[in-house]
Amino acid sequence: MTGTYHIWTIGCQMNEADSRHLASQLEALGFAETPRAEHADIAVLNTCVVRQQPEDKAVSKMLSLGGTKRNKRKMIIALMGCMVGRREAEDLAVRFPFVDVFMAPSQTDALIDYVLSRDEYSHLDRTQIELSDYRLPVINREKSITAFVPITLGCSHACSYCVIPYRRGPDRSRKPEEILAEIHALVGQGIKEVTLLGQIVDRYGFDLDGEFNLAWLLKEVAKIDGILRVRFLTSHPSYIDEELIRTVAETEKVCSYFELPFQAGSDRILESMRRGYTQAEYREVVSNIRKMIPDASINTDVIVGYPTETEEDFLETVKLYDELKLDLAHIAKYSPRPRTVSSKMSDDVSDEEKESRANRFDEVVARVMGENNALMLGAVVEVLAEEFQESKGRWRGRTPQNKLVFFEHEGDCLGKLVNVKLDWTGPFSLIGRAI
Ligand code: SAH
Repeated sequence: MTGTYHIWTIGCQMNEADSRHLASQLEALGFAETPRAEHADIAVLNTCVVRQQPEDKAVSKMLSLGGTKRNKRKMIIALMGCMVGRREAEDLAVRFPFVDVFMAPSQTDALIDYVLSRDEYSHLDRTQIELSDYRLPVINREKSITAFVPITLGCSHACSYCVIPYRRGPDRSRKPEEILAEIHALVGQGIKEVTLLGQIVDRYGFDLDGEFNLAWLLKEVAKIDGILRVRFLTSHPSYIDEELIRTVAETEKVCSYFELPFQAGSDRILESMRRGYTQAEYREVVSNIRKMIPDASINTDVIVGYPTETEEDFLETVKLYDELKLDLAHIAKYSPRPRTVSSKMSDDVSDEEKESRANRFDEVVARVMGENNALMLGAVVEVLAEEFQESKGRWRGRTPQNKLVFFEHEGDCLGKLVNVKLDWTGPFSLIGRAI
């Protein structure tokens, strides 16, 4: 063994995918994972700054590692993800002098270069890693059944509140052959379900020469032997089109599931957010999806307490969710982010009010999801078994609609599709038995 590493990850699925990729590279060099960052020879923090809270967590974690390093001088500390962004590294190097390497999102090679430049690791051979990113076999010791695969990096939309374009740069599509090669490698590691990722995933292929788009890519991925299910996220109401919805409807392996954030219900707030659609247009997209895919589940993201948001605006947001009977909603309290357009507006909704709006929204989500799920009582659903929970003696998996299901089954069904009859439904999970 060359040494040990630990990667601490917070934030979105893209970060999870980046961490997995970096782990593969480090393992290829002979490093082994260790459960605690403090004990590792290489400690990596993969960060998120989409709101203040995850940023604060990363800073406190980093300062504590800085303390550890005082007695452990050879330790390598690397900082990656949106905190580093594409141009924050210089400022960060002044604030956190004990950090050895700063890596922009998805740029894991910087750490590999640094490790190889150190005397104690100079015997390592770079050719152990195929540096043509994402191609190398992905380690899957946890025996995961599902994996995230980034297909578009960055974002060019510039919503008024969002820091992502500043930190991840403009959107660019990965080459189809690279994505398909990565998925083949994942299948070889036992992965049965992939989720294709992009900030606006529906924009996949816009920047590539040739007739590539998300609908085409989904069909290609579905052709891969060993892949049982394909998902994609996040969609944007202005870019999701009929061809894509039809592809989901007609391609068996592509799940009837959409992540379609609306962020706010009031047209005035939507315009200030620069989202590029009205409430009526959002309703139309949902209605088009349901016309073509009656059993589709639609999850969403919502921000409460955006500057100038009144109680009436907020109630309009709640009403939109309630009337459309969407599924899971991730509710975020507005947090001003550096350099964004909205950060120049006064953050005029108090913390207490944001908290109250988020709590009230959560209650509506629990009620609506409870009602949606109750309609499924007694039904038979198809579940991909992802894990056996020893302590509870039951399997955990998901339906194509991404609903969490626990079920009993005597045999080994890891990674298999199982028909489950539902005996109990709650807002956030379903319970049944295999038939
Ligand atoms: N590209 C996706 C997801 C972006 S980040 C999209 O367009 O929806 C994930 C979620 O974080 C967003 O959907 C939004 O609800 C939330 N978010 C982004 N910036 C935020 C901010 N400044 N304050 C609070 N929530 C924010």
